[in-house]
Amino acid sequence: MNFTVFQYPKSKHTRSLTPRLFKRYQTYKRYLQHEFARTCVYCRQPDSSAPNLNFGVDHYRPKGIAKFASLERDYQNLYYCCGSCNSRKNNDWPKDELKGPYIVNPCDYIMSQHLRFESTSGIMAPRTKFGEYTEELLQLNDPIQVEYRKTTLQTLKMAASHLAALKNQKSEILKLFQQNKIPADVYNDESNAIDDEIETIEVLIQNNTGTKPLLRVRNLK
Ligand SMILES: [Zn+2]
Repeated sequence: MNFTVFQYPKSKHTRSLTPRLFKRYQTYKRYLQHEFARTCVYCRQPDSSAPNLNFGVDHYRPKGIAKFASLERDYQNLYYCCGSCNSRKNNDWPKDELKGPYIVNPCDYIMSQHLRFESTSGIMAPRTKFGEYTEELLQLNDPIQVEYRKTTLQTLKMAASHLAALKNQKSEILKLFQQNKIPADVYNDESNAIDDEIETIEVLIQNNTGTKPLLRVRNLK
């Protein structure tokens, strides 16, 4: 199993959803959750890995700056973002708009050109001036987050090998059953117990990678 959690996108994101105009910008959160695969666009943490992170709507051009007030409910200006990145980003905007530095976002920038996730250290390594600026302002490498990324990858690795062992075990007992070496009730009990364990591990993997399926957006009210 190859996990791509925490890795920055290698191409620019083109928005796939076109929600209507809502009264409150918060309503766009569920669209943004789909749009950006339930992952904070800045620190790449999936929302399912830690339910209390207060994921919400980031205004790339900050709504707290008067000239951008009209973009408060402009979908193109909104991003899916965890609570830490959102509060650290706050009203940041470059004084010199020609030069920047800008925080990199996945629609205007190829994120992987600016930041790279190093899986062995858990670090988000900046590769450009803008990447450096983003890493510093959003504190992408604060020790708690670095530790969390390392632990998550370790957990995923262990989960994957446990999953493989269970699948192996399942085919072994099927073989025993087919060779009439165990009776049907024993086979059923054991095979059900293994299935339950497989399901638990698959949910763990989905939660840690943010791949648990969401409600379809057209069913959203
Ligand atoms: Zn974040």
